[in-house]
Amino acid sequence: MDLSQAREYAHTAMPQVIDDLRTLVGHSSIAFPGFPDAPMKAIADDLLGMFRRAGVDDVRLLDLGEGAYPSIFAEIPGPEGSPVVTLYAHYDVQPAPEGQGWTTDPWTLTEKEDGRLYGRGAADDKSGVVAHLATLAAFEGRPPVTVRLVIEGEEETGSHIEAYVEEHPEDFRSDVFVVADSGNQRVGAPALTTGLRGDVSITVRLRTIESALHSGLFGGAAPDALVAMIQLLGSMYDETGATVIEGLDSYEWPDGDLDEADFRASAGVLDGVELSGSGHLASRLWSRPAATVIGIDAPPVAGASNIVIPEATARISVRIVPGSDPQAQLAAIETHLKAHAPRGVQLEIGDHKVFGAWKAAEGGPATKLAEQAMTEAFGAPCESHGSGGSIPLVQVLLDTSPGSEAILWGAEDEEKARIHGPDESVDPKEIEDLVVAQILLLSRLGEQRR
Ligand SMILES: [Zn+2]
Repeated sequence: MDLSQAREYAHTAMPQVIDDLRTLVGHSSIAFPGFPDAPMKAIADDLLGMFRRAGVDDVRLLDLGEGAYPSIFAEIPGPEGSPVVTLYAHYDVQPAPEGQGWTTDPWTLTEKEDGRLYGRGAADDKSGVVAHLATLAAFEGRPPVTVRLVIEGEEETGSHIEAYVEEHPEDFRSDVFVVADSGNQRVGAPALTTGLRGDVSITVRLRTIESALHSGLFGGAAPDALVAMIQLLGSMYDETGATVIEGLDSYEWPDGDLDEADFRASAGVLDGVELSGSGHLASRLWSRPAATVIGIDAPPVAGASNIVIPEATARISVRIVPGSDPQAQLAAIETHLKAHAPRGVQLEIGDHKVFGAWKAAEGGPATKLAEQAMTEAFGAPCESHGSGGSIPLVQVLLDTSPGSEAILWGAEDEEKARIHGPDESVDPKEIEDLVVAQILLLSRLGEQRR
């Protein structure tokens, strides 16, 4: 299909696309523990029906093991010798608790005056699901490449798919992985996500004395574990709040910067409060490490008494940069903590969890075709941007297929979509143009390598 055919098709398909999105948003498909599984089963059934209608006859549920919600899976053979392209999105969503501040029912797709469609998952990532549906329907079951379809049901929570992919790499081997779970920086301004930070989290415990002591009798000389923890945690930052752990990788983001006022607004930074770090904002968010203290065990304020504290525990999460080696980053963090633990306190580090970062194959042939497809579909030059979030599956998928490329894009614009927050929404034109880009990409991948 060429650009004008793809455009015409996508435009005509939009009423169906929105209908499907309405059906999907109507299911509160939350995969978190403690939520009912009926909506998860119901949405999976609907998805099977929708993909069959799109010409994907062999679509089925893929059992990922005990306690897992299945992925929707299909393999659609393309012409002999054509490349293999995996289309990925996810059908589970974040919860939308009462009190989060929704102004419409999160489980009813609602169009507002601004033309956007509101509902939990309308963007993240049911927009990606309907984009894949419409893309496959465009080819009526006969795509120009071999397609593997993977619609996951556990992206927002403890996922089973990574382990499954590692055990069954042959089922996922592909030349290109198209992950529609991202978005443009601004509506109408096409962009590829070319870097994802990874994450290393660890728990640190400090011990100083055998048990709590009277602070009047012992304070001043008896070493307090919580004070030591505050000093240790403080050693991870400079006076601007930038993370300064020695040995962590860091680089300057090569493309344009973000607008500071826009960022302050989208982050809800309070009046008079300065941003952390300094310099290029895109680098601070996408290509420099960022440590966060995500939990501290210490005596709660209610019932606090005058004691010297014997033990304190903190959970630290460090976002690591695209292209870095996660094990080396973990080692650097541990070395830093050991070196900065004050006054010989007893330090224990444990319970580490590591999600690798990911960096796009710069200049890779599929990445180039994807940029071109975005430029044509949106009628504006395609930019590249990073994302602070981690999608651990991306690297796991790439590891199945040496030399493969991942394309990250989507209809979750960073400007207004408010994914995970109240009043999540999607701009239907972003979905339409994404469908055009996906059709062009598959068509050209099919031509190029035949
Ligand atoms: Zn998502």
